[in-house]
Amino acid sequence: MQESPVDIPCPICSSEGSLYMIAHVDEIPYFGEHTQVTVMCHSCGWKQTDFIPAEGKKAGCWSLVLENTNQLKSRVVRSSSCTIRISELDLQVNPGSNSTGYVSNVEGVINRFLEVINMVLRDLQNDVSSKLIENESTELSQTIKEINQLEEIIDTLSNIGSEGQEPFTIELLDPHGHSMIIDEAATERSLTDEEIATLPTGPDPAVFSA
Ligand SMILES: [Zn+2]
Repeated sequence: MQESPVDIPCPICSSEGSLYMIAHVDEIPYFGEHTQVTVMCHSCGWKQTDFIPAEGKKAGCWSLVLENTNQLKSRVVRSSSCTIRISELDLQVNPGSNSTGYVSNVEGVINRFLEVINMVLRDLQNDVSSKLIENESTELSQTIKEINQLEEIIDTLSNIGSEGQEPFTIELLDPHGHSMIIDEAATERSLTDEEIATLPTGPDPAVFSA
């Protein structure tokens, strides 16, 4: 595939003349025909992929209530402007400046959440050791409480559809309308004006808005 130069400095390392773009038209069942655009910097290695649907899409929120393990295989198209939320568990991933789009499935999205939670959990566990040594008992009980909460969340995320497990809802909120959950039980609604005003839209560089 052919790389074409992009005439703006790299949004990460500011290097001039290092940005290149590859675009190709692709088809994902139900998501439809779209252009997959990847921008990369040959200086620092920054890379970002996005999916631009052929038909204009409107800002939207896709929701799926997770009740059984079959749904783990459902496809997810997540664009770089998409916020992923699990309200029941107080979890949210915003599109940061390094946000990149990806095509995955529900399991892949949950694994990304688990990775981050496990990282935080390890930090807290290290905290416990140092607080034990320094004998800070008030802070210690707070940290242990936080650890227990995280372990409960991990438990819920890892045991979808098992007995006694409350279902939870995964939501994709995308002001650009380039994201989708492909499952027959998934529903779509428009974003409210308030959501459009407050949701982050991710990396700005004019690369994708052009
Ligand atoms: Zn760069």
